[in-house]
Amino acid sequence: MLQLKNNNLTPATQQHLSKRQADINGRPAFIDKSGRAGTLWDGKTGSRAGKAAFEEIKNTLIAMCVGVELCNYCEQSEASDIEHILPKSLFPAHTFEWENYLLACKKCNTTHKLDAIDVFDPDGSTNAIRVANGKEPPTHDVAFVHPRRVDPMDFMDLNFDDFLFYARPPHAPNTRGFVMVEKTLDILELNNRPTLVNFRRSAFHNYKRMLREFVETNQAANYDELEQAVTGNPQVDRQSPFEAEKQRILDGLRTSILTHEHPTVWREMIRQRNNLPQPIQQLFRDAPEALTWHEIN
Ligand SMILES: [Zn+2]
Repeated sequence: MLQLKNNNLTPATQQHLSKRQADINGRPAFIDKSGRAGTLWDGKTGSRAGKAAFEEIKNTLIAMCVGVELCNYCEQSEASDIEHILPKSLFPAHTFEWENYLLACKKCNTTHKLDAIDVFDPDGSTNAIRVANGKEPPTHDVAFVHPRRVDPMDFMDLNFDDFLFYARPPHAPNTRGFVMVEKTLDILELNNRPTLVNFRRSAFHNYKRMLREFVETNQAANYDELEQAVTGNPQVDRQSPFEAEKQRILDGLRTSILTHEHPTVWREMIRQRNNLPQPIQQLFRDAPEALTWHEIN
C-alpha cells in the first residue's frame, strides 16, 4: 500500500459534504446517526448538486490513485468504488469526510474490508478491539494503516522472498504501529490471497525486465542493438532518426513501469535495492534516474 496524494476539492463540493455531515451529527443517538448516514449516502447522487459533487469526488480520487486507477488496497484490480476507510455504519461522523475516502476495487470493498475495523482499547494499551456491528465504537482511534493520513511504507515492508508484507522497524511487536499493520493486513487479506501474492511476484519480474530493457536501450548504439534491447516489443522503426527512436522507446518503458500493477513492489525495489541480487543493483546503478520514478505525472 502507498500513501495517496492529497488533492483538494472545490469549496462548493467541500461545502456540500459539510452540510450532509452536519445533518448526521445533529441526530441525537448513535443509531440515528448511523441510520441517517446510510440514507444520505445511498441518496448522495439523487440531486443535481449531489451528482455534481460526487462526480468531482470520484474524478479527484481517480487522480489521486496509486498507478492508473488501481485499487489503493490490493493494487491489482480497477479502482471502482468510493470506499470509507472508517466504515460509515460504525463511524457516521466520518461519512462525508473527504479524508475518509479512497478508491478500492469491488473485491476489496465488498469481500474483504466490509465494515471490519479495529480500534485501540481506550485503556491506553496497544490492544485492539474489533468494533461490533451496530455498536458505537468506544473510540475513533482506529488500528488501521490509514493511507491518506500516513505513509504505509513507514509501517511495512515487502519481503522479496515470500512477497508478504511485514511490520518494519521501529514498529516492533506490541507497539501501536505493529498492531496497526497486523490488523490492516488481516482485514484486507493482503498476505493471504494466494493469487494476489503471486501477482506481486510476477510484478517484480516484470519490473526487473523493463528496467533491464531500459538500461540496454539506453546503451544501444545502433538499430540492431535497440532491437535486441527490447526483443521486438515495441517494434523499432528504422525510418525514424536513431536518437528520437531511442528516446521514444525509453519514454515508453518509463511509462510502462509507472503504470504497471503493484506500484508498491516497484517502490520497494527502489528502497531495498542494496539488498536485492547483484544484477538488479547494477541495473539501478546504470539507470539512476529510475530511483526518482514514483508516479506517472
Ligand atoms: Zn482491491
